[in-house]
Amino acid sequence: MFGHFIPDYMFRHYYEISPEFLRSLGIRSLILDLDNTLAPYEQPLPDERNLAWLGELKAAGIDAAFVSNNSSPDRVELFNREIGLPAYFKSGKPSTKNIKKALADMDCPPENAAVLGDQIFTDVWAGKRMGMTAIMVPPIKDKRTLFFRFKRLLEKPFVAKYRKIHGKDFQL
Ligand SMILES: [Mg+2]
Repeated sequence: MFGHFIPDYMFRHYYEISPEFLRSLGIRSLILDLDNTLAPYEQPLPDERNLAWLGELKAAGIDAAFVSNNSSPDRVELFNREIGLPAYFKSGKPSTKNIKKALADMDCPPENAAVLGDQIFTDVWAGKRMGMTAIMVPPIKDKRTLFFRFKRLLEKPFVAKYRKIHGKDFQL
C-alpha cells in the first residue's frame, strides 16, 4: 500500500521525459493527466511545447491518452481538439475506471503503460494500483511557490523514500 504512493520516477517538467526513456522501461502507452501536468488550468489550448512533445511521442510510436479529473468536458475537449488523442474527463482518479478504458483504446496492458501526473493521491495512486509505472512532475501552476510546498509535502514521507531509492529528487 505504501508503495502505491511512491512515484517510480520524478521529473521537473513533463517535456524532459523522452521517448527513449519510456522505451527503456518497456513503455509504449502513456496515460496523461492534463491540469497542472501539461498545462495550468488557465491555459485552454496546447502550446507549442505541448504539441512538440506530444509529436515526439507520436513519432516514436508511443501512444497517449488523456485521463483527466477535470469535470468539464469542454476543457478536455478544447485542449485535445488539435491533438486528437483518446480523452476522458471526470475520471475520479484514483479510480482506475477511465484508465482501464484508455488502455483498452490503446490495446496496451498496464505493465507496458505509464501514468504521468502531478498528484500522488490521484495520478500516482491510480497508476500504481493498476500495476503501471507512475511518473510524477511538480504542479505547473505557481511553480515558484508551490514547488517548495510540494517538496516539503513530499518529504514526508513519500519523496524521502523516493530519494532513498533513487539518490536524487529528479531524474534529470
Ligand atoms: Mg493534475
